[in-house]
Amino acid sequence: MRFDLITIFPEFFASILTHGVLRRAISGGLVGVEVHDLRNFAHDRHRTVDDRPFGGGEGMVLKPEPLAEAVESLGIAGKGERERAGGRGREQVILLSAQGARFTQAVARELAGLERLVLISGRYEGVDERVNELLCDRELSIGDYVLSGGELAAAIVVDATARLLPGVLGNEASSEFESFGLASPLKPKEGLNGAPGLGPKDGLHGALGGPPSAVVGAGGLLDYPHYTRPAEFRGVAVPEVLTQGDHAAIRRWRRERALEKTWRNRPDLLVGAELSEGDRGFLRGLGWKQRE
Ligand code: SAM
Repeated sequence: MRFDLITIFPEFFASILTHGVLRRAISGGLVGVEVHDLRNFAHDRHRTVDDRPFGGGEGMVLKPEPLAEAVESLGIAGKGERERAGGRGREQVILLSAQGARFTQAVARELAGLERLVLISGRYEGVDERVNELLCDRELSIGDYVLSGGELAAAIVVDATARLLPGVLGNEASSEFESFGLASPLKPKEGLNGAPGLGPKDGLHGALGGPPSAVVGAGGLLDYPHYTRPAEFRGVAVPEVLTQGDHAAIRRWRRERALEKTWRNRPDLLVGAELSEGDRGFLRGLGWKQRE
């Protein structure tokens, strides 16, 4: 997959592209990232890319002409053509904006199915709205707060999307079985590696069978807590169940902690989560009242 990032601060992206998973994905040829300096598409000697807002008011606005030229220089299909493809097009142009639709793991999954993504980072008071109308397929916001520029948001979209591409994470399972993971990644009654598993009614709160790897946080819940050595740190011991080798007990404990954490920190996620009867009973014990 290829990402094209349009920005007035091209150096901004140097650190995210040269560390960790993304660096490996780029050097392994799984992901391509090109950063484009918007000022290269300005035509005056000051390389001006912004101007005062019509109607008055604070700040400056990014002008439409350099942004249009920057997008059009990329050789992708025009917006009309992408629309005529009925969303089946393999390319999208996205404007990062506090006014955009929320960027979520589900959106990241959708974007990971594309071949090419162009991300436009705004600055100042924002971007001339005609850029959105004429060039962009969608506006995305990374959350309900205002950043001083779209670069951080673009970096987040690149990172969250790229790690979902096949081959980018060492362990293919890890992007499915973490927070916000897909519901039912494995068929009920089928454990990892084909080992017999336990279905939603088997009393393990929907936990799957097989070895107790990171499978029980899946299904739209937040992940369960993780621990490593030392077994005791500043007087706090690792939960005993994790040290005793009882796989079924570990799976049950992890599922319950994932349910508990989701209930405590993000109860809204429980509405769309895949819950077994056992899960529901456990949550009711915590005070959860299911909405019909
Ligand atoms: N006047 C705009 C508003 O109130 O919605 C805020 C402009 S902000 C200071 C400058 C740029 O930062 C925006 O054009 C956008 O690209 C980016 N930005 C700010 N908050 C964002 C968010 N929550 N998600 C994505 N991009 C954001």
